[in-house]
Amino acid sequence: MSAGPGAGAGPEPRFLALWGEIEDLSDASGLLAWDQETHMPPHGHGARGKIQATLAGVRHAKLCAPELSELVERCAERAAPGSVLAAQVREARRVLRRVTRVPERLARERAEAVTLGHAAWSAARARADFALFEPALTRLVELAREQARCLAEDGASAYDVLLDEYEPGARASTVGLLLGELERALTPLVAAASEASVAPAPDAAAGRFPVERQLAFARSVAESFGFDFARGRIDPAPHPFCSAFGPDDVRLTWRWDESDFRPGLFGVLHETGHGLYEQGLPAAWQRTPIGEAASLGVHESQSRLWENLVGRSPAFWRWALPLFQRHFPGAREVNPERLLPLLHSVRPSLIRVEADQGTYDLHVCVRFRLERALFAGELEVRDLPGAWDEAYRRTLGLTPRDAAQGVLQDIHWSMGAFGYFPTYTLGNLIAAQLFAAARRDLGDLDAAFALGEFRPLLEWLRTHVHAHGSLYTADELVRRATGRVLTSDDYLALRRAELAEYYGVAV
Ligand code: ZN
Repeated sequence: MSAGPGAGAGPEPRFLALWGEIEDLSDASGLLAWDQETHMPPHGHGARGKIQATLAGVRHAKLCAPELSELVERCAERAAPGSVLAAQVREARRVLRRVTRVPERLARERAEAVTLGHAAWSAARARADFALFEPALTRLVELAREQARCLAEDGASAYDVLLDEYEPGARASTVGLLLGELERALTPLVAAASEASVAPAPDAAAGRFPVERQLAFARSVAESFGFDFARGRIDPAPHPFCSAFGPDDVRLTWRWDESDFRPGLFGVLHETGHGLYEQGLPAAWQRTPIGEAASLGVHESQSRLWENLVGRSPAFWRWALPLFQRHFPGAREVNPERLLPLLHSVRPSLIRVEADQGTYDLHVCVRFRLERALFAGELEVRDLPGAWDEAYRRTLGLTPRDAAQGVLQDIHWSMGAFGYFPTYTLGNLIAAQLFAAARRDLGDLDAAFALGEFRPLLEWLRTHVHAHGSLYTADELVRRATGRVLTSDDYLALRRAELAEYYGVAV
């Protein structure tokens, strides 16, 4: 406990020992989950489920031990406001509250509802029939409402409580203001792009890109960004993700398309951003309550910053193109004049995970509004498909062909994850605000990127974001790093600049 303000008065050794064991159990479970996605044979699910259940049970028992709560409260008595110890207490209490205030019966019912929900959702999506998912989703919403009632304090709404799981301290009202403002500003930008006389060439990233060369290219870019493969690795998986077991063991996954290099490269750059954050978390606070990321929104800001603000910039491509051509000598037709407009497309679509940067946040705004209405009692589950289609028509000007293309497209609700979607857009906003602050501090980053120098930016992020773990809440971290509370200003400025650059329109 040596870094950060107020160092000195640390948690009791006994507390650190107990908390470390709890973190080890989480990591063991995370490692098994990583293995399940990357190496486990198809028939391993039954045995793996039992191991995971045992680990979860042991972890739960350790968190519920009265000794642990007593130790946290003893630390609280000694913790000076604003100290590292106070942050340790805040985070420990947050975790303990979620475990001890939710009755075991409810936790078990939720776990069962998630298993059933996921199966019902898969079947419903395959047949594009919402009715097959409706009873399971109704149950998941009921249980989430009950959980929110158990956890609510200080006048928090049900949706506040759900958000808090992913974005500690966030309030639906604040997020609602940010997202509402963003939606009002983005809508005319999207309309202007559709009316513009220029459009990106859809085949500007097409060609033949053998998988092993894609991996070699993506790895060399990740290394240039500062990802340390002696403390990390990359493996193929059906969905890209990043898992970490402390800063010295950070694992990325990726998937690829041999006829278009974008999914592979930008997927790796995205996960590299998550991985750089994990490798930069403070080693001294590892296995303690504040050794982890400040929030999912902050985590997502790191992935989106490296993927979008660095990896799609003209300066990056000035450096990367010769490297790209060395790895893909046959792909002469890929050139920045055609590629860059494609990397900054603004075109409404129906599927969130395939959406371009220019329209992505509108998909999030739709989900946020629906979730909020659902938990305010203003919308019933049975009315969701209609509300979804209506929202897409109004917001993106498109109507889904069926429920698979509409309300059933995302996995989140089937897992009982309500309040997760806003973290994606918060990530975009935080990334833009951090990037603008880094530019103010560091000067011309483009000149550095064009030379393949990404260290100054990484060092800035290490100092202002990574090194703090969850010492501060996300709001405070952003305020300290950028000198301002989070707004959509820097993000919208980027969106407008790109629209002017690639569509030739000023809005
Ligand atoms: Zn991400």
